[in-house]
Amino acid sequence: MTDIYRKIPKIDKLLEKEEIKVRISKYGRDFVLSIIRKHLDIIRNNITNNIISRINEEEILNTIIYKIDKENKSKFKRVVNGTGVIVHTNLGRSVFSELIAKEISDNLCSYSNLEYNLDKGERGHRYDHITDIIKEITGAEDALVVNNNAAAVLLTLKTLASTKEVIVSRGELVEIGGSFRIPAVIEESGCILKEVGTTNKTHLKDYKNAINENTGAIIKIHTSNYKIVGFTDDVDTKKLKKISYEKNIPLIEDLGSGMIIDLNKYGLHKEPTVKETLDKGVDVVTFSGDKLLGGPQCGVIVGRSKYIKEIKKNQLLRALRVDKFTIMSLELTLKAYQNFESLPSKIPTVRMITEDNEDVKWRANKLLEKINNINSDLINTELCKTNSMIGGGAYPLDNLESWGIKLSIEENSEKDLEKKLRGGEIPIIVRIVDGKIIIDCKTILNKDYDIITKAIKDIIGEKND
Ligand SMILES: *Cc1c(COP(=O)(O)O)cnc(C)c1O
Repeated sequence: MTDIYRKIPKIDKLLEKEEIKVRISKYGRDFVLSIIRKHLDIIRNNITNNIISRINEEEILNTIIYKIDKENKSKFKRVVNGTGVIVHTNLGRSVFSELIAKEISDNLCSYSNLEYNLDKGERGHRYDHITDIIKEITGAEDALVVNNNAAAVLLTLKTLASTKEVIVSRGELVEIGGSFRIPAVIEESGCILKEVGTTNKTHLKDYKNAINENTGAIIKIHTSNYKIVGFTDDVDTKKLKKISYEKNIPLIEDLGSGMIIDLNKYGLHKEPTVKETLDKGVDVVTFSGDKLLGGPQCGVIVGRSKYIKEIKKNQLLRALRVDKFTIMSLELTLKAYQNFESLPSKIPTVRMITEDNEDVKWRANKLLEKINNINSDLINTELCKTNSMIGGGAYPLDNLESWGIKLSIEENSEKDLEKKLRGGEIPIIVRIVDGKIIIDCKTILNKDYDIITKAIKDIIGEKND
């Protein structure tokens, strides 16, 4: 019995193996050593507990190598989005532009003028790089960018209305994605929530009656992920503007997604753009960078310069500020909006929303052909019409026509197949409709076809050449 312990490979001997040496130079000696020690402990324990009765050196080495490699794989993975939800918050929201990523990579991996004024040779401001382009595109007097839209709302309220009452319609007390609840954000910013109206109806007089000497702001919230339908009414922004102007109270609007272009012509119902919202007289508008805009995560604050100036002075801004990646990528994202013709080719989110459904059908057919080329009796495919969604809390009632592939593989229940697709080297996230697996091609990218066919081959056990 003691003999078998002696057969456990010695650490020194393992460290001399070529496969281990390469990994030491790649990942460091301490890390590799800790994995080896942990695994040899397991082997010893298994012997003690009579789980194993012989030592296979090769198997031990292979397991150690597997464990080293597995630990070093990034936990953060790219996935294939087969759900058809374009701005999928769980899957990283808007897919970032490959063209822009390439364009910024050199600047990103160099020193830059992030906070340096090249004309004067002295300290500059990071926000200066993007203020002008935001002003141009939204028509705002001034602009500021922070970490995300939640931060934008927080900073705006904290600056303009702290310790005072903020008036909100009861129909707009939204929760977004579980972690952004308007009542909580208002309280977090040191303001007092003043609810007016009812869930389905809020009138101008409700706002009027709520105003007193302790009113700090009126805020309108885009209800993003739901719509109250039926017997409803809300107050026109222009009328609200009139009373807020008379009382000298800032009127704020959290637009959520924040559209720059009018999507009405693409079959979606009318929603005001950022510019239209400002034109109605809203003093400060906030929106996200990685929803419909299709850029990096950030929150954009635009509006009248007297308010934005105040917000810029708030010390909290330092804690919510954006980094150089965000500034560079937001600048180029916004620049893409200056040329409407080339916009869809630069911003994937815009392309997916505005493209002709025939293009989606073409992609679905291409994917179908590739899957059918695997040529296995086990695979069943069918081209099907689907409905995809914008997501990200935008247009909750609008479906976009789309095409997809209904997929099943013999000997795999739908549940098993979904799990296997999700568990592969590059996970594929699909939709299950009426118990059937559908890969919605609205959100399938050019580079995804071969990944999907490889995953299916792996599932049916066919070797890839
Ligand atoms: C999405 C959303 C937010 C939160 O935006 P983040 O950029 O995720 O912080 C806030 N308000 C509304 C109305 C939204 O739709």
